[in-house]
Amino acid sequence: MIDTHCHLTFPQFDSRVEAVLDAARAVGVLGAITVCTTTSNAAACLRLTREHPNLWCSAGVHPLHSDEPADWGEMLRVAREDRCVAFGELGLDKHYDRPPLDTQRRLLREQLDAIAGSGLDLPIIVHCREAFDELLPTFRECGLAGERFVFHCFTGDADEARAVLDFGAMISYTGIITFRNARDIQEAAKITPLDRIMIETDAPFLTPEPHRKVHPNEPKYAMDTARFVAQLRGESWEAFHAAIDANTRRYFGIEWTQAPRPR
Ligand SMILES: [Zn+2]
Repeated sequence: MIDTHCHLTFPQFDSRVEAVLDAARAVGVLGAITVCTTTSNAAACLRLTREHPNLWCSAGVHPLHSDEPADWGEMLRVAREDRCVAFGELGLDKHYDRPPLDTQRRLLREQLDAIAGSGLDLPIIVHCREAFDELLPTFRECGLAGERFVFHCFTGDADEARAVLDFGAMISYTGIITFRNARDIQEAAKITPLDRIMIETDAPFLTPEPHRKVHPNEPKYAMDTARFVAQLRGESWEAFHAAIDANTRRYFGIEWTQAPRPR
């Protein structure tokens, strides 16, 4: 498998990316998608993908960075590169009141317009925190196909999962689902069809059990979350593993290699 969502350009991984990816490979997490959070971060994400095999990136602006200047030309320049396999992460975060929601909304509209106008058919990684009611109508209005979206780090309940699935999107689960107080998210994962599910770390954040006290989180711990979700759903590891790999390949249009990197 690969870790479908992490942030390897964050300072927690400074000059350690190779070691972190080697450690992941050793436990069967063979690659990762490093997700962009500001347009000034996009070039760094892309550069990292050139330095490591089985590494891809996205281009976009995280809602909690919507008060920083965004350069849509730069986002699209990176998005056109072949190692860039998605837009985002974009969305709304109502858990925090900074940046103000109106700033987040304005930035999101601009970003969706830039994506819709780009002619690029890439998947779109969604950051949705306490904002399902607003984000789903916003996405429907912008005319982009529901199948293009993945709701990353899903923290809703089963009803919210149903709404996301009805829209046509994929759902991706992080280590949060392994926490004891995550009953609602666990119920959501049980009703997510096997062909709509993906697994990620969101490293450096959200280390799964049983390593919850370890910081920073790393791509290698995607394996713990994947095994937890397989067991939660009552599926064999082999069947679940094959499904998340097939989903990741199909959704992001990528293929990874088993072989260790040549030195
Ligand atoms: Zn993220």
